[in-house]
Amino acid sequence: MITAHLPSGYVLGRLWPAAPLVLPAAVLGGILPDFDMIWFYLVDDRAFHHHRYWVHIPAFWAIVAVVALPLVALFARRYLMAASAFFAALLLHLCLDTIAGDILWHWPFSNQFTHLVTIPARWDNWVLNFVLHWVFALELAIWALAATLYPRRP
Ligand SMILES: [Zn+2]
Repeated sequence: MITAHLPSGYVLGRLWPAAPLVLPAAVLGGILPDFDMIWFYLVDDRAFHHHRYWVHIPAFWAIVAVVALPLVALFARRYLMAASAFFAALLLHLCLDTIAGDILWHWPFSNQFTHLVTIPARWDNWVLNFVLHWVFALELAIWALAATLYPRRP
C-alpha cells in the first residue's frame, strides 16, 4: 500500500466506538509502521527491505499490545478505547501491506515474507507498476470512504 494508510486509519478511527483520543490514535497507528522509511533511507541506505524492520513485524506489535493493553486498562482506563484503536490500526496497516507488499507474518518461526498479490514489473518505475495495477483501486476506494466520512464528522 502506497497512499492509503492515513485514510485507512482515519476510517478505522471513525468507525471505532467514540472515546477520548480514538481518532488520533487510529490515524497514528495507521501510519506509524512506515516511519521506518526514515531509517530505511537515511541510515540503512536502502540495504534491507523496510518490511523487515520491527515496526512491520506483526509478532512485535502483538507482544507490545499484550503488555500495553492490560496496563492501560489498569492505570488509564479512560484511554483503553484509544489504545485498542491504535493497535487495530497497526494491524490494519500490516494487513493492507500484505496485499501487494511483503510482511513477516510467520516471524519468529520463519523469515519468509507473505503477500497476496504479485504486481508484475511492467514499467521501470516501481510506482507506475503499483498505480497502474488493479490493487491501486483499493487504495482509491479507501480514500473515497475517508472522504465520504470526513464531512459527516461529529
Ligand atoms: Zn507499511
